This record gives sequence, C-alpha cells and structure tokens, in this order.
Amino acid sequence: MTRPDPAAPLPHPVVDCHCHMDMAYGDEPVRSLAETMERSAAVGVTRVVQVGCDITTSRWAVAASAEREDVVATVALHPNEAPRVYAEQGVAALQEQWAEIAELAQAPRVRAIGETGLDFFRTGPEGREVQEESFRVHIRLANDLGLPLMIHDRDAHDDVVRVVLDEGAPETVVFHCFSGDESLASVCAEHGWYASFAGTVTYKNADGIRAALRAMPAHLILTETDAPFLPPMPYRGQVNASELMPLTVRSMAEQRGEELAAFCEQVQANAFAAFGQW
Ligand SMILES: [Zn+2]
Ligand SMILES: [Zn+2]
Repeated sequence: MTRPDPAAPLPHPVVDCHCHMDMAYGDEPVRSLAETMERSAAVGVTRVVQVGCDITTSRWAVAASAEREDVVATVALHPNEAPRVYAEQGVAALQEQWAEIAELAQAPRVRAIGETGLDFFRTGPEGREVQEESFRVHIRLANDLGLPLMIHDRDAHDDVVRVVLDEGAPETVVFHCFSGDESLASVCAEHGWYASFAGTVTYKNADGIRAALRAMPAHLILTETDAPFLPPMPYRGQVNASELMPLTVRSMAEQRGEELAAFCEQVQANAFAAFGQW
C-alpha cells in the first residue's frame, strides 16, 4: 500500500464533501488532522466534511469540527454498522447508539446526518430489516433537526429512493459517492437532490456514473473523496486523501465540457448551498 503524491493544484478552492480523515487503509498510518488539512489546502481543497460511521468516528468528527474552522462534521451509524450492532449486542444497544447519534447531532458544527442509507453489497438479507429501520431513524432525525441527509447507497438505488420518499425527504438530500446511472440522476434532478461524485467517476468501468454526471443539473453536483478509500485514477487501489481530489475535479470538468475554474467555483457554491457556509 502506498500514498500517491498530491495532485496538481486547482485554480479555485473546492470542498471535499465526504471524507474519513481518521480512518486507516491497509498498513499506511493515519496522518494528523493538521497535516491532512494543510496538504489538501495546498492543492485547493480548502474545506472538508468529516463523516461519522459509528459512535467513535462520529465523536471524532464532532471533535475535529470543534478544533478546526475548515472542517465540519456529520454523524450517523453506517448502514453496515447498525446490523452489526444489532447482531452482536441486541436491540437495546442499537437504540442507545441511535440516541447518542441524536445527541451528537446537536453539536454546533454538525452539518448533516450521515452516512446512512442502504448497502446490499456488504449486508446480506438477514440484516436488511435492521438496516432499513436504522435508515428511517436517521431520516427522521434529519427532519427533526432540519439537517441535510447524507446517503450511502450501494446496490440499493430503488429501495433508498422508496424509503426516503416514504419517510418524507429532508430539504437537503445528498447521494454520497454517487453510483447510479442516468435514471437515478433524473430522480435526483426531479427532487432537487445532490449527487456527490467521488474518484469512482474516473474509473474505466464507470460509463454509467459519467453519463449521470453529464445529465445532472450543474447546481446539484458535489465533489468528494471518501478518503482513504476509492482514489481517482491512476491511483485505484492505493490510499486516498483530499489532496488527490483535484484529479477527480479535473476529470469531471472535462466530462461536462466546462472550464475548470468555473466548474470549481460552481461545485464550491453547491457545497455551501447544501451544507451551509464555513
Ligand atoms: Zn459510503
Ligand atoms: Zn464514507
């Protein structure tokens, strides 16, 4: 496992709308928050949304957002985490954790509830009922607090859309690491939901995602890394970081036939519209 060199700087600042700066990938040690942010700012990725996936990482995200002005937080139990807690510790423990997420969500710089959603890739049929219930709990929390909903959707497009509409969509909905094609893009466009594109949009087999990117209205496009996972080409399989996001942003601007600086300006404005200014 290796860390690629940082990408060439962008001509205008952008936001990494989904990142896990606290997570290790392979045997590569985690960098300090300060070093990660300094390196990413040097290439124009000046702000980061730090995402929670369980109690520990949600607490970490809140602490990071309290420590640094360029970081805001999200909190949630990941769709693979809720069934795990339920299977290993039972329903009372899961309910306790939902309650703690609701408490953490009150912190001043929490800007979304997520990542939550459905993941039919890593959670089998035995965990799906709990997964959907946990998703519903998170949607209700986002609605109660008036916060955006940050969705993790893996192999579950139709069910994600069904559950969101059934619960009532929060005012702001973001599909993180957008993995749909033009048909999901048109559902997002119809409802005014954001599609946040990660390094996967640069992968060879991602024609469907690129078609979705071209089809999305400009004001609903976000950019993210999901670091330390899913680095853009040519670094697939290595350790990702916000400092590599310029590769994704350049590729996206090219796909859409847009001038790079103008595209950066647009996606940064979209990030502020979705999560608020910081
Ligand atoms: Zn995810
Ligand atoms: Zn993530």
